[in-house]
Amino acid sequence: MKFAITSKGDSVSNTLMHKMRTYLQDFDLTYDEDQPDLVVSVGGDGTLLYAFHRYRSRLDKTAFIGVHTGHLGFYADWVPEEIEKLVIAIAKTPYQIVEYPLLEVIIRYNDGGREARYLALNECTVKSVEGTLVMDVEIKGQLFETFRGDGLCISTPSGSTAYNKALGGAILHPSLPAIQLAEMASINNRVFRTIGSPLVLPQHHTCLLKPVNDVDYQITIDHLTLLHKDVKSIQSRVAKEKIRFARFRPFPFWKRVSDSFITDK
Ligand code: NAP
Repeated sequence: MKFAITSKGDSVSNTLMHKMRTYLQDFDLTYDEDQPDLVVSVGGDGTLLYAFHRYRSRLDKTAFIGVHTGHLGFYADWVPEEIEKLVIAIAKTPYQIVEYPLLEVIIRYNDGGREARYLALNECTVKSVEGTLVMDVEIKGQLFETFRGDGLCISTPSGSTAYNKALGGAILHPSLPAIQLAEMASINNRVFRTIGSPLVLPQHHTCLLKPVNDVDYQITIDHLTLLHKDVKSIQSRVAKEKIRFARFRPFPFWKRVSDSFITDK
């Protein structure tokens, strides 16, 4: 089996990365940064986001596993004290694969049918470059509302514990093939009205955002922020691709939620 290790870049994560690399090579596993079967991310959830984007062209061939050197993560759930156990498990046991849904975002531009396609592990956010964001929100081809406010966040189930949660969105179990649309400070008064609640869309529903008064937006895909000019529409739906995690032991999602946000028992 070929493996790669990505590190957050701090000295603790780097030391752990080198240790794991040596241990795994001692078990005759091959280090291959370009075409790994398994990517070990050492750091936090943010580090796994970077690893996901680095290897996004080979999601069907690569499985991910996360070790956290800070607090417990949703994608990084092994602790540094467990790495000997983890290395032996990687080298000796066939692992189970758990797949999580991803978000597909297609941005279309006004000039000549140009479009850009992105995959997000956590979410896509849309904000206006200047002033209030005003967007027609279409769901499954029907106008649902005209949104006015700071922005919109469309998240995956595993991303629902990240930015989405800070916006009052629900936490979705990652076995659900769904996406969630959450508002950022919508304007609601006698003239303007939005639903005001996060919406959860199933796999076969598409959300289309259409600019009303502007064409330039600040759009994030996970940790990446880009300025998009001359935007015609932003389409979101559950992607056909999935991220694959290598599982060597059970760690139920709701236990991770409770340990992360309530108390680490
Ligand atoms: P960052 O600003 O350095 O860190 C954002 C925080 O979000 C980190 O503590 C990170 O955990 C945590 N996180 C990432 N994915 C998560 C998940 N699926 N569930 C729970 N927590 C998660 O940025 P970054 O490390 O590059 O990560 C980018 C992410 O930051 C975005 O995808 C977005 O979700 C999040 N974000 C959140 C807010 C907010 O809550 N108001 C605002 C902007 C962005 P680790 O410490 O383990 O890396």
